[in-house]
Amino acid sequence: MTDLLVVEDDDQLRKALVLTLRSRGYVVHTAATGAAAIERVRSARLDVVVLDLGLPDMDGVRVIERVRETSGVPIVVLSARRDQSDKVTALDAGADDYLTKPFGIEELLARLRAAARRSGAPVDAGVVRTPDFEVDLGRKKVLSRTGAEIHLTPTEWGVLEVLVRAGGLLVPGTDLLREVWGPQYETQTNYLRVYLAQLRQKLEPDQSHPRYLITAPGLGYRFDPSGTGG
Ligand code: CA
Repeated sequence: MTDLLVVEDDDQLRKALVLTLRSRGYVVHTAATGAAAIERVRSARLDVVVLDLGLPDMDGVRVIERVRETSGVPIVVLSARRDQSDKVTALDAGADDYLTKPFGIEELLARLRAAARRSGAPVDAGVVRTPDFEVDLGRKKVLSRTGAEIHLTPTEWGVLEVLVRAGGLLVPGTDLLREVWGPQYETQTNYLRVYLAQLRQKLEPDQSHPRYLITAPGLGYRFDPSGTGG
Protein backbone atom coordinates (compact mmCIF):
# COMPACT_ATOMS: atom_id res chain seq x y z
CA MET A 1 0.00 0.00 0.00
CA THR A 2 1.19 3.47 -0.85
CA ASP A 3 0.19 6.23 1.56
CA LEU A 4 -0.48 9.58 -0.06
CA LEU A 5 -1.13 12.97 1.48
CA VAL A 6 -3.26 15.23 -0.71
CA VAL A 7 -2.86 18.90 0.24
CA GLU A 8 -5.51 20.95 -1.53
CA ASP A 9 -7.80 23.69 -0.22
CA ASP A 10 -10.30 23.43 -3.07
CA ASP A 11 -12.91 21.10 -1.55
CA GLN A 12 -14.24 19.85 -4.85
CA LEU A 13 -10.86 19.10 -6.34
CA ARG A 14 -9.65 17.48 -3.11
CA LYS A 15 -12.71 15.21 -2.93
CA ALA A 16 -12.35 14.26 -6.59
CA LEU A 17 -8.67 13.41 -6.08
CA VAL A 18 -9.42 11.37 -2.97
CA LEU A 19 -12.11 9.34 -4.74
CA THR A 20 -9.96 8.66 -7.77
CA LEU A 21 -6.81 7.83 -5.83
CA ARG A 22 -8.63 5.54 -3.39
CA SER A 23 -10.22 3.71 -6.31
CA ARG A 24 -6.68 3.09 -7.60
CA GLY A 25 -5.66 1.47 -4.34
CA TYR A 26 -3.87 4.34 -2.61
CA VAL A 27 -4.34 5.05 1.08
CA VAL A 28 -5.21 8.75 0.99
CA HIS A 29 -4.75 11.28 3.79
CA THR A 30 -5.85 14.88 3.29
CA ALA A 31 -4.98 18.39 4.43
CA ALA A 32 -6.59 21.67 3.39
CA THR A 33 -3.94 24.03 4.78
CA GLY A 34 -0.16 24.27 4.83
CA ALA A 35 -0.03 23.97 8.62
CA ALA A 36 -2.14 20.81 8.56
CA ALA A 37 0.10 19.37 5.84
CA ILE A 38 3.29 19.98 7.85
CA GLU A 39 1.69 18.39 10.91
CA ARG A 40 0.53 15.40 8.86
CA VAL A 41 4.01 14.80 7.43
CA ARG A 42 5.39 14.73 10.97
CA SER A 43 2.78 12.35 12.35
CA ALA A 44 1.94 9.95 9.52
CA ARG A 45 4.02 7.51 7.53
CA LEU A 46 3.71 8.81 3.97
CA ASP A 47 5.13 7.65 0.65
CA VAL A 48 4.21 10.67 -1.47
CA VAL A 49 2.80 14.16 -0.86
CA VAL A 50 0.62 15.81 -3.53
CA LEU A 51 0.78 19.53 -2.84
CA ASP A 52 -1.26 22.43 -4.22
CA LEU A 53 0.91 25.57 -4.17
CA GLY A 54 -1.96 28.03 -3.62
CA LEU A 55 -3.00 27.44 -0.02
CA PRO A 56 -4.96 29.81 2.24
CA ASP A 57 -2.55 30.01 5.18
CA MET A 58 0.91 29.93 3.62
CA ASP A 59 2.64 29.68 0.29
CA GLY A 60 3.13 26.12 -0.96
CA VAL A 61 6.85 26.74 -1.45
CA ARG A 62 7.15 27.52 2.26
CA VAL A 63 5.32 24.24 2.96
CA ILE A 64 7.92 22.38 0.86
CA GLU A 65 10.75 24.04 2.80
CA ARG A 66 9.16 23.17 6.16
CA VAL A 67 8.52 19.56 5.13
CA ARG A 68 12.13 19.22 3.96
CA GLU A 69 13.36 20.20 7.42
CA THR A 70 12.16 16.84 8.71
CA SER A 71 11.33 14.58 5.78
CA GLY A 72 12.57 13.35 2.44
CA VAL A 73 9.10 12.21 1.36
CA PRO A 74 8.62 12.79 -2.39
CA ILE A 75 6.51 15.88 -3.15
CA VAL A 76 4.53 16.23 -6.37
CA VAL A 77 3.37 19.84 -6.80
CA LEU A 78 0.04 20.75 -8.38
CA SER A 79 -0.13 24.33 -9.45
CA ALA A 80 -2.19 26.70 -11.52
CA ARG A 81 0.97 28.77 -11.93
CA ARG A 82 2.41 28.30 -15.39
CA ASP A 83 5.40 30.55 -14.94
CA GLN A 84 8.71 28.72 -15.39
CA SER A 85 10.21 30.57 -12.40
CA ASP A 86 7.48 29.24 -10.09
CA LYS A 87 8.33 25.74 -11.14
CA VAL A 88 12.04 26.31 -10.60
CA THR A 89 11.37 27.83 -7.16
CA ALA A 90 9.29 24.81 -6.11
CA LEU A 91 11.86 22.32 -7.38
CA ASP A 92 14.68 24.25 -5.72
CA ALA A 93 12.78 24.20 -2.43
CA GLY A 94 12.74 20.40 -2.61
CA ALA A 95 9.74 19.36 -4.70
CA ASP A 96 10.31 16.25 -6.81
CA ASP A 97 7.87 16.87 -9.61
CA TYR A 98 5.52 19.59 -10.86
CA LEU A 99 2.16 19.32 -12.63
CA THR A 100 0.35 22.34 -14.01
CA LYS A 101 -3.42 22.55 -13.58
CA PRO A 102 -5.51 21.46 -15.33
CA PHE A 103 -3.92 18.02 -15.54
CA GLY A 104 -5.19 14.62 -16.58
CA ILE A 105 -5.69 12.06 -13.85
CA GLU A 106 -3.68 9.47 -15.77
CA GLU A 107 -0.75 11.85 -15.90
CA LEU A 108 -0.99 12.44 -12.14
CA LEU A 109 -1.14 8.68 -11.54
CA ALA A 110 1.96 8.16 -13.68
CA ARG A 111 3.85 10.86 -11.76
CA LEU A 112 2.78 9.31 -8.45
CA ARG A 113 3.97 5.87 -9.51
CA ALA A 114 7.30 7.36 -10.53
CA ALA A 115 7.63 9.28 -7.25
CA ALA A 116 6.76 6.19 -5.19
CA ARG A 117 9.29 4.12 -7.15
CA ARG A 118 12.03 6.69 -6.67
CA SER A 119 11.29 6.82 -2.96
CA GLY A 120 11.63 3.06 -2.69
CA ALA A 121 8.13 3.09 -1.19
CA PRO A 122 7.54 -0.30 0.35
CA VAL A 123 5.20 -2.40 -1.75
CA ASP A 124 3.99 -4.58 1.09
CA ALA A 125 3.50 -3.80 4.76
CA GLY A 126 6.51 -1.54 5.15
CA VAL A 127 9.22 -4.03 4.22
CA VAL A 128 12.21 -2.61 2.33
CA ARG A 129 14.28 -5.32 0.67
CA THR A 130 17.89 -5.13 -0.41
CA PRO A 131 19.95 -7.90 -2.02
CA ASP A 132 21.55 -8.67 1.38
CA PHE A 133 18.92 -7.94 4.03
CA GLU A 134 15.42 -6.62 4.55
CA VAL A 135 14.20 -3.87 6.84
CA ASP A 136 10.73 -4.44 8.30
CA LEU A 137 9.62 -0.96 9.37
CA GLY A 138 6.37 -2.23 10.87
CA ARG A 139 7.92 -4.86 13.12
CA LYS A 140 11.15 -2.89 13.62
CA LYS A 141 13.32 -5.82 12.60
CA VAL A 142 16.14 -6.44 10.18
CA LEU A 143 16.42 -9.88 8.61
CA SER A 144 19.39 -11.28 6.72
CA ARG A 145 19.05 -12.87 3.28
CA THR A 146 18.66 -16.24 5.01
CA GLY A 147 15.86 -14.92 7.23
CA ALA A 148 17.92 -14.70 10.43
CA GLU A 149 17.27 -11.63 12.54
CA ILE A 150 20.11 -9.12 12.67
CA HIS A 151 19.93 -7.61 16.14
CA LEU A 152 20.26 -3.84 16.37
CA THR A 153 20.37 -1.65 19.45
CA PRO A 154 17.49 0.86 19.73
CA THR A 155 19.80 3.69 18.66
CA GLU A 156 21.16 1.73 15.69
CA TRP A 157 17.56 1.01 14.68
CA GLY A 158 16.67 4.70 15.07
CA VAL A 159 19.44 5.76 12.69
CA LEU A 160 18.61 3.04 10.16
CA GLU A 161 14.89 3.79 10.28
CA VAL A 162 15.36 7.51 9.55
CA LEU A 163 17.64 6.69 6.60
CA VAL A 164 15.34 3.99 5.19
CA ARG A 165 12.24 6.17 5.53
CA ALA A 166 14.01 8.97 3.65
CA GLY A 167 13.59 6.71 0.63
CA GLY A 168 17.03 7.09 -0.89
CA LEU A 169 17.28 10.83 -0.32
CA LEU A 170 20.23 12.37 1.46
CA VAL A 171 19.61 13.00 5.17
CA PRO A 172 21.76 15.83 6.54
CA GLY A 173 23.77 14.77 9.60
CA THR A 174 22.09 17.44 11.73
CA ASP A 175 18.63 16.05 10.80
CA LEU A 176 19.69 12.55 11.72
CA LEU A 177 21.07 13.71 15.08
CA ARG A 178 17.94 15.74 15.81
CA GLU A 179 15.56 12.91 14.93
CA VAL A 180 17.39 10.14 16.76
CA TRP A 181 19.00 11.91 19.71
CA GLY A 182 17.17 15.24 19.95
CA PRO A 183 17.69 18.90 19.01
CA GLN A 184 20.45 19.50 21.56
CA TYR A 185 22.65 16.88 19.84
CA GLU A 186 22.73 18.45 16.37
CA THR A 187 26.47 19.09 16.51
CA GLN A 188 27.53 15.64 17.77
CA THR A 189 28.67 14.37 14.37
CA ASN A 190 30.99 11.88 16.09
CA TYR A 191 27.86 9.97 17.20
CA LEU A 192 26.99 9.44 13.56
CA ARG A 193 30.43 8.12 12.69
CA VAL A 194 30.22 5.65 15.59
CA TYR A 195 26.70 4.41 14.85
CA LEU A 196 27.14 4.27 11.08
CA ALA A 197 30.27 2.17 11.63
CA GLN A 198 28.29 -0.19 13.88
CA LEU A 199 25.44 -0.47 11.39
CA ARG A 200 27.84 -1.12 8.53
CA GLN A 201 29.53 -3.83 10.52
CA LYS A 202 26.17 -5.55 10.94
CA LEU A 203 24.64 -4.90 7.51
CA GLU A 204 27.30 -4.31 4.88
CA PRO A 205 28.95 -7.28 3.16
CA ASP A 206 32.16 -5.23 3.04
CA GLN A 207 32.11 -2.45 5.59
CA SER A 208 35.11 -0.70 4.07
CA HIS A 209 33.13 -0.29 0.83
CA PRO A 210 29.56 0.54 1.94
CA ARG A 211 26.91 -0.22 -0.63
CA TYR A 212 23.78 0.49 1.41
CA LEU A 213 24.71 3.12 3.99
CA ILE A 214 26.35 5.80 1.91
CA THR A 215 28.24 8.77 3.32
CA ALA A 216 28.12 12.03 1.38
CA PRO A 217 31.15 13.72 2.96
CA GLY A 218 30.25 16.98 4.65
CA LEU A 219 26.58 16.60 3.71
CA GLY A 220 25.03 13.59 5.36
CA TYR A 221 24.00 10.02 4.77
CA ARG A 222 21.80 8.10 2.37
CA PHE A 223 20.32 4.62 2.27
CA ASP A 224 20.55 2.86 -1.09
CA PRO A 225 18.31 -0.23 -1.08
CA SER A 226 19.67 -1.33 -4.48
CA GLY A 227 23.09 -1.85 -2.92
CA THR A 228 24.84 -0.37 -5.92
CA GLY A 229 26.21 2.42 -3.76
CA GLY A 230 25.36 4.82 -6.55
CA1 CA B 1 -5.54 26.17 -4.03
